[in-house]
Amino acid sequence: MNVSKVMSDLERKHPGENEYLQAVREVLESIEEVYNQHPEFEKAKIVERMVEPDRVITFRVTWVDDSGEIQTNIGYRVQFNSAIGPYKGGIRFHNAVNLSMLKFLGFEQTFKNALTTLPMGGAKGGSDFNPKGKSNAEIMRFCQAFMLELWQNIGPDTDVPAGDVGVGGREIGYMYGMYKKLAREYNTGVLTGKGMTWGGSLIRPEATGFGALYFTEHMLQKAGKDLKGKTIAISGFGNVAWGAATKATELGAKVIAISGPDGVIYNPEGMTQEKLDYMLELRASNRDIVAPFAEEFKDATFVAGKKAWSIKCDIALPCAFQNELNEADAKELLAGGTWCVAEVSNMGCTPEAIAAFQAAGILFAPGKAVNAGGVATSGLEMTQNAQHLSWSAEEVDKKLHYIMSQIHEACVCYGEQADGTINYVKGANIAGFMKVAQAMLEQGAI
Ligand code: GLU
Repeated sequence: MNVSKVMSDLERKHPGENEYLQAVREVLESIEEVYNQHPEFEKAKIVERMVEPDRVITFRVTWVDDSGEIQTNIGYRVQFNSAIGPYKGGIRFHNAVNLSMLKFLGFEQTFKNALTTLPMGGAKGGSDFNPKGKSNAEIMRFCQAFMLELWQNIGPDTDVPAGDVGVGGREIGYMYGMYKKLAREYNTGVLTGKGMTWGGSLIRPEATGFGALYFTEHMLQKAGKDLKGKTIAISGFGNVAWGAATKATELGAKVIAISGPDGVIYNPEGMTQEKLDYMLELRASNRDIVAPFAEEFKDATFVAGKKAWSIKCDIALPCAFQNELNEADAKELLAGGTWCVAEVSNMGCTPEAIAAFQAAGILFAPGKAVNAGGVATSGLEMTQNAQHLSWSAEEVDKKLHYIMSQIHEACVCYGEQADGTINYVKGANIAGFMKVAQAMLEQGAI
């Protein structure tokens, strides 16, 4: 394989799909060396097939807002790769959603799911619907209209969507209600991230953030460090940021910053249970601002227009959106003494930011490894649904912990360098790739 050749072909076929092209390039650059040691992959054209989604479904979603006006959005489901299991991945509602974004996310999901050790293929879906400022009734009508088109393409053994940015338990509930009515199928395993009374798994809401901290703990341990007393800056105040802040606090670290589109909260005293609960209230308000946190808690201050990366910290955890941490942010963090960055958002750091962290020799791990606890626990939710039972929180948490340790081990196995340090980007990409590639090879030219 020649990465430049594959990339120039893709750029020609999919011009302007920047996030998708960025995600593919990162993976191909990491796997090039290993790939070229396997002529059977080259012969089977594994890379050429793997970079294209199996299929893309797009549809119009029309709904009526509270003032009676008709609104139209675009809906998508990108079924990327089914080599190791049924399609699996979240649904994102955000005004910036487009095909490039969902193709990047579906591609990443394929490798992430492979890392979880569970049999799940990769997919992603969503809409350019903007939940900000929408009423509960509008959210419900939109979710119903979205499912009216999507339902025929999903199923417990076909494609299992879940939440992502802009889609949480409430939206999953509204979508499942409509699915059930249309499909006349009552198997709750068709979606994950469900409510606890109808097939949801304990720990699923916390899983992405908890898993990220379990991974970070392993990463620190391998480097002879620990989390106790370390300062952490987190971007975002959604479900993932909340889970990460909760577990980080429980493990003895101090979360000194959270942020939103409006600015950053500097929180030098760290989190309390009340503050963690308030993060959820902020998110539920649908206003997408973090400033009220500083009105509620007098020891915290709000700085408008600044990112979490402007706060001096030991560990940075991007938990919001792709490319949210750029080269200038990376330099600011490094100048402030940050020595560990674990991407919790999908592709949270730009390639230039990653290069800066790697050149500085600090610990860095990519989203597809760090945030895989979310989809892994979705996989555990599917298992519970298929068995018609539910496990205790302790049991799910234990399994999540074990899966994160396995993911860390896989990264070490493929990412260990001559000097004993770990290149987690390389490790995660190669480990995920090898599993999917082997499955594709065994299943023939399809
Ligand atoms: N959206 C989450 C992710 O990026 C979770 C997906 C799932 O649970 O299927 O992995």
